[in-house]
Amino acid sequence: MLSTTDNIFPVYHEILGRPEKEALLKQRSKVIWLTGLSGAGKTTLAKYLEEALFSKGFFTQVLDGDNIRSGINSNLGFSDADRFENIRRIAEVSKLLVNCGVITINCFISPTEEIRDMARRIIGKDDFIEIYVNAPLQVCEERDVKGLYSRARRGEIKDFTGISSPFETPENIDIEIRTDLQTIEASVKQILEFVLPRVKF
Ligand code: ADP
Repeated sequence: MLSTTDNIFPVYHEILGRPEKEALLKQRSKVIWLTGLSGAGKTTLAKYLEEALFSKGFFTQVLDGDNIRSGINSNLGFSDADRFENIRRIAEVSKLLVNCGVITINCFISPTEEIRDMARRIIGKDDFIEIYVNAPLQVCEERDVKGLYSRARRGEIKDFTGISSPFETPENIDIEIRTDLQTIEASVKQILEFVLPRVKF
């Protein structure tokens, strides 16, 4: 019996490649992967980082958890299997964007080493910049940007990362940003120092 993939023939050789697209955009594409607890500052930093890169002439795209979950991944929840599938699809989408020459900034809790390793494997380690956006749980909980922590504490949200679902400290990071200890401006500067040499054409 034929498997579902036996009759699929991906075509890459007839399509314009990444080098041509990077040359057009005058940049090297990378995925900047922000991992961390809810409320740690991923979305905030992504926004400022994108503005900073864009103002320097770089072409970027932010992928954010809530947007993706309300669109392409609207059928997924927060079980281990769904979290895995959520990140698998996001990694595949990111790979497409990187192959288009786009600098992709991703804001996803991505709570386990296994999940982050999968994303790195799909995207390719040379294109994957991992940033740990770190603030202690207590600080994230005090910020409670979306009121989710208090709902999780009341038991209204199950499998909430940091409360009833684990967040494993990332082991393979390129940068750690302590958003409880430094300003947004200092954090963006720290990220740019690492990223700019890697995206310059
Ligand atoms: P996440 O995307 O990780 O869930 P958000 O960016 O949505 O987090 O929320 C982080 C909150 O923390 C925002 O309200 C932001 O204004 C606030 N905040 C306070 N100080 C900082 C800082 N130094 N860096 C980033 N965010 C900060």
